[in-house]
Amino acid sequence: MKFEKSKDIYEEGLKYIPGGVNSPVRAFKSVDAGPVFINKGYGNRIEDEDGNTYIDYIGSWGPAILGHSNPQLIEGIEDIIKDGLSFGLPTKVEVDMAKLIVESYPAIDMVRMVNSGTEATMSAIRVARGFTGKNKIIKFEGCYHGHSDSLLVKSGSGTITYGVPTSLGVPEEIVKNTIVCRYNDLEDIRKTFEEQGEDIAAIIVEPVAGNMGLVAAEKEFLNGLRKITKEYSSLLIFDEVITGFRIAYGGASEVYGIDPDIVCFGKIIGGGFPVGAYGGKREIMEIVSPLGGVYQAGTLSGNPLAMHMGYKNIKYLQDNKDIYEKMEKMAIKLEKGIAENIEKTGVKATIVRFKNMLTLFFGEGPFKNYDDVQRCDTNMYAKYFREMLNRGIMLPPAQFECMFLSTAFNDEDLDYTIKANLESLEKIK
Ligand code: PMP
Repeated sequence: MKFEKSKDIYEEGLKYIPGGVNSPVRAFKSVDAGPVFINKGYGNRIEDEDGNTYIDYIGSWGPAILGHSNPQLIEGIEDIIKDGLSFGLPTKVEVDMAKLIVESYPAIDMVRMVNSGTEATMSAIRVARGFTGKNKIIKFEGCYHGHSDSLLVKSGSGTITYGVPTSLGVPEEIVKNTIVCRYNDLEDIRKTFEEQGEDIAAIIVEPVAGNMGLVAAEKEFLNGLRKITKEYSSLLIFDEVITGFRIAYGGASEVYGIDPDIVCFGKIIGGGFPVGAYGGKREIMEIVSPLGGVYQAGTLSGNPLAMHMGYKNIKYLQDNKDIYEKMEKMAIKLEKGIAENIEKTGVKATIVRFKNMLTLFFGEGPFKNYDDVQRCDTNMYAKYFREMLNRGIMLPPAQFECMFLSTAFNDEDLDYTIKANLESLEKIK
């Protein structure tokens, strides 16, 4: 495969954009490859500037759940554009979108649209603090909730990949209110609440962590969080930026049967447009301005084009819930095939799956928390990534991320991937 055009664009990009990319993981640094610049996408395929095509297991990190350029989604988009792109005034489709989300998540009576997952979690934390009158929050090691100051502590995704446990530029005074606990460790939570429970506004958690590789919460752990937050009048925030409308229509809230106090959504609800949202019970959400004293706003929040596309995306998922079972079946096939290849080749690796998300960890499980995943061999992942890339498969360019399936996959794609996986494991072992 040739990557000449991507290389040229990257070199040009390096002059004008820090690291040549607008989000660190895209630089492909941890897999020791140059970034591939994407030109277009269709179904589950993406094509780069050199004309190489890939089966895409990133899917824009979740939003492309119906495949790229899905005709049903993009049909009529020109008519929407012709009617104007942004008004900074309310539009009906915002109300339609809010109603659809509220009807889909029992924990949500009211919802606010924002422009990204980062904004959703940042605003949810502000609401939790405003509502409870308390300052401290708990997050978990390895969970990523976007890059707002108070949440950028021992987070996952690119911050693990690039070894930045806490970013420069985040004042001590801000992070001193962020307590970091161990994922899947209720004892740690109990101790923390015994010591500081009266000051804790909220626990924020990825109910299925996708940012330290795939690490699902144990049911008792999430039940324990629900119980203890109620006991101490703190709020439980589910960050469903990845899991919402993905692992089931009702996200992790549905899968685990838990009603959090606030749910955060991101990318997937925009169907590819920059959208996020946070919602919760009426008495909590009524604290948001203009009803209450928690300020949160956005010129492009509820942007009509993004809302139209997001609405279509979610509505499709609502009307076709059988897709979740189909995607899970495909994920199971992939999991089995890869597990067999691991066995055959004797490579020290473990395939982990939850619903339609997967991670191939180059290490031995079980993987329950950040310490467990840290023991993985990231050099092996890098080699594996490059082998797969050269076979036309786009995997997440870092060990501590997930693979995402979409409705655009079919058996042939999976068979090809399993074959490429075997060849790649053979080559790197
Ligand atoms: N929360 C989670 C669970 C995420 O995975 C992400 C992004 N990967 C975010 C929040 C932040 O979302 P965004 O990148 O849209 O700001």
